[in-house]
Amino acid sequence: MTKQLSPLYVVPTPLGNLKDISERAREVLCSVAWVAAEDTRHTAPLLQHLGSPARLLAAHEHNEAGAAGSILAKLAAGEAVALVSDAGTPAISDPGARIVARVREAGGRVIPLPGPCAATTALSAAGLEDDHWLFYGFLPSKSGQRRKVLESLLELPYTLVFYEAPHRVLETVADLAAVLGAERTLVMARELTKLFETIQRLPLGEALAWMEADPNQQKGEFVLLVSGCPQGRDDGEAERVLKLLLAENLPVKQAAKLAAAISGGSKNALYERALALKG
Ligand code: SAM
Repeated sequence: MTKQLSPLYVVPTPLGNLKDISERAREVLCSVAWVAAEDTRHTAPLLQHLGSPARLLAAHEHNEAGAAGSILAKLAAGEAVALVSDAGTPAISDPGARIVARVREAGGRVIPLPGPCAATTALSAAGLEDDHWLFYGFLPSKSGQRRKVLESLLELPYTLVFYEAPHRVLETVADLAAVLGAERTLVMARELTKLFETIQRLPLGEALAWMEADPNQQKGEFVLLVSGCPQGRDDGEAERVLKLLLAENLPVKQAAKLAAAISGGSKNALYERALALKG
């Protein structure tokens, strides 16, 4: 009879604030034999902070296939392994998916813990009322390719969620406005859970100037969220009604509700559109 593999735990870690480690994550990280980490130097202080005696092994983008083999060998030897990335949830724009796939293929049990993730943390505070959202993660680094991807997302009525690095954030915001349109709403969630956390909501057309005016707003880690493409049975009709109601000085929420009822359009999309029109 083949021996059962020990479980692989997938463990999210704090985005910045160490207090965001869950009780369960602490328990798992302190009880497993091994922690497979994206950067062992980065994770060592976290384990020390938690008082975990677990040994570290490297599992990063460039050795993921090899790391999967070592992890399987440990699981087969009866040693439990926890998989972590530098921050947030493994396999979300981070290494991890290949390791999980290998363990599953081998018949192993993968136990995911819920926890910090920059995308969901940003979404929870964005106040964008689309009913659906699409996580894209990092856009291509070259502007031409980036714009092409954005064009493919242009008509989706979903909140779009992107990750971006500080050295590219200005050019990405410029491309978001150029392709998705100046009137859609951008929520820039910067340095979440950290000292300089900023969550700024503004029309895409104003975002670049706002960020350029303050170099501090160009620093750190970013989630960029863009409201979904406004849609209705007839966008032109919905927009015409919305503008008429706003011109009568109706509150944004009421104007959106009425415009949706009259035109058959989406109330949430019309609300976002009304906010954009109001600037
Ligand atoms: N796996 C992580 C997660 O669950 O969110 C994401 C890892 S990805 C390599 C790193 C990117 O996540 C950053 O470039 C940034 O876009 C986003 N991010 C991570 N921490 C963040 C924070 N504290 N505030 C805003 N964005 C953050």
